[in-house]
Amino acid sequence: HSRFTSEFDIIDCLGRGAYGCVYAARHKLLNKCFAVKIVRSDEKALREVGTLSDLLHSNIVRYYTFWMEDSRYQGHITVGSSAGSFSSSQSIDDPSAKYLYIEMELCQTKTLKKWINEKNTQSQPDTKRRQESQTIAQQIVNGVEYIHCKGHIHRDLKPDNILFGVDGVVKIGDFGLVTKDDDDDDDDIALMERTRQRGTYTYMAPEQITGKNYDRKVDIFALGLIYFELLWKLSTGHERVVVWNDARSLKLPEQFSVTFAEENKIIRLMLREKPEDRPEACELKAELKKWAQTQHLHKERATY
Ligand code: ATP
Ligand code: MG
Ligand code: MG
Repeated sequence: HSRFTSEFDIIDCLGRGAYGCVYAARHKLLNKCFAVKIVRSDEKALREVGTLSDLLHSNIVRYYTFWMEDSRYQGHITVGSSAGSFSSSQSIDDPSAKYLYIEMELCQTKTLKKWINEKNTQSQPDTKRRQESQTIAQQIVNGVEYIHCKGHIHRDLKPDNILFGVDGVVKIGDFGLVTKDDDDDDDDIALMERTRQRGTYTYMAPEQITGKNYDRKVDIFALGLIYFELLWKLSTGHERVVVWNDARSLKLPEQFSVTFAEENKIIRLMLREKPEDRPEACELKAELKKWAQTQHLHKERATY
């Protein structure tokens, strides 16, 4: 007997990560759609649920409830066309394992990653795009400020983990790597994740890669890279790797600092090598807000 299949009509597979699968499902009784993430129940998964249940903020994916089952739903193994269809062989359930079903707010299938890819097919960023990037960055900062003030670190901020709500509002998701800010023992999961992401196109702060003691400033570093990527069209192949690695060590493209002078200033603070030199989320929030207001003033003057 499965609560998932008896209470829900499963609509689509939205994404498949290293640890689990996320489905769009309609609750039969409520006739309302939700996202249900299925993960193997372990300490990490329970931490994800524990954190999510602590958080209630407009820029964080809303959590509703969770339950356990003895097996993992394995239908609909093809990821929806918008996610770039692929199918994978069904994995064999470990009979001794339990699975967590996490019911959340259903977001748009377009993640920030897709937003960036779409933007990159267009030519130079126009004023509208720049404005949108700023709005997105501001909303992520608001969510991160809230996560930090609740004493958590996200540790895995990247465009695939940032979603849009049905109303277009930015929602931070995937709390699978979250930890407490005062927790300094480095767990196996974090180590595994680092190994997986090292050397690639990573959003991890330098101190997070080396596994030294790190704190909430790792989220600020990742956010700096995301903001850069929102604005700057990265080329492909080798050049992309070079630009990315340069950005990680504070060498932003010359043209970037000219075209996006204000953003450049803010991003450079976020990408500082020493975590203590990076601003807190609340400082960033104030900075971005101040800048948005001056822009607004400029616009008003221009219309007179
Ligand atoms: P990863 O390997 O990237 O860490 P994961 O297994 O930890 O993945 P998530 O990042 O939580 O899982 O979800 C995987 C994907 O499923 C997301 O990138 C997103 O495309 C989709 N997704 C997750 N949650 C939702 C949601 N609430 N609404 C819509 N889509 C979602
Ligand atoms: Mg993810
Ligand atoms: Mg994850």
